[in-house]
Amino acid sequence: MTQHSDALHRRGLMFIMSSPSGAGKTTISRMLLEADPAIRLSVSATTRPMRPGEVDGKDYHFVDQPTFDRMVEEEAFLEWAHVFGHSYGTPKAQVKAGLREGQDFLFDIDWQGTQQLYQKLETDVVRVFLLPPSIDELRRRLTGRGTDSAEVIAARMERAQAEISHWDGYDYVVVNDDIDLCFGKVREVLHAERMKRARQTGLIGFVRELMRP
Ligand code: ADP
Ligand code: 5GP
Repeated sequence: MTQHSDALHRRGLMFIMSSPSGAGKTTISRMLLEADPAIRLSVSATTRPMRPGEVDGKDYHFVDQPTFDRMVEEEAFLEWAHVFGHSYGTPKAQVKAGLREGQDFLFDIDWQGTQQLYQKLETDVVRVFLLPPSIDELRRRLTGRGTDSAEVIAARMERAQAEISHWDGYDYVVVNDDIDLCFGKVREVLHAERMKRARQTGLIGFVRELMRP
């Protein structure tokens, strides 16, 4: 029997990207999803209003507070948190089944969610933290994005300090200075993590076959 090593069964991984708001994780996430069809976005539920250009069911499941609270009660979330006065949560069903089938998921979630996922599913989790090259550049990006009011930007800048302080709760830290360089580094992390022995559940049978006298 000939079997290419890429065809070996592998358990999916949970690729978490966090950053202070404005450092570029949405941009890098979109690039990754476009370049790599094998990874899918875990679409969170949120109570925050939709931004221009966002699509319900694609960027987020936009729900009202009673719906979100009901999902919490029914334990429909793998993790959830309050961020900037709104609720955000990771729906459980899609991810658990997908991982078993070898599906990789990308999570754009904050440090609180990262901690919760790591506590629950440590071996499946890969944690990547993006940093801005400077605080001035972070402010420029938040302003340049043009999606938030001056008050919201001020609140995000204030919170950025607190978010940056969680850098040491991540496996990888990448400074997002040049976008293409940063993207390249993030992709390398994903590629290497896929080859971890523990994720390659098809290896035992494959190696046994190789060693058959
Ligand atoms: P986040 O999702 O972390 O809040 P975004 O991905 O929305 O951040 O990025 C914030 C803004 O900065 C966007 O307008 C984006 O186009 C821009 N941006 C992201 N990465 C870079 C970069 N490396 N250089 C310059 N601008 C960037
Ligand atoms: P935004 O409103 O800019 O899309 O996201 C605000 C913050 O909420 C970001 O830091 C983002 O990573 C985080 N976030 C988005 N979805 C979730 C989620 O499901 N769980 C948690 N814990 N944080 C989330």
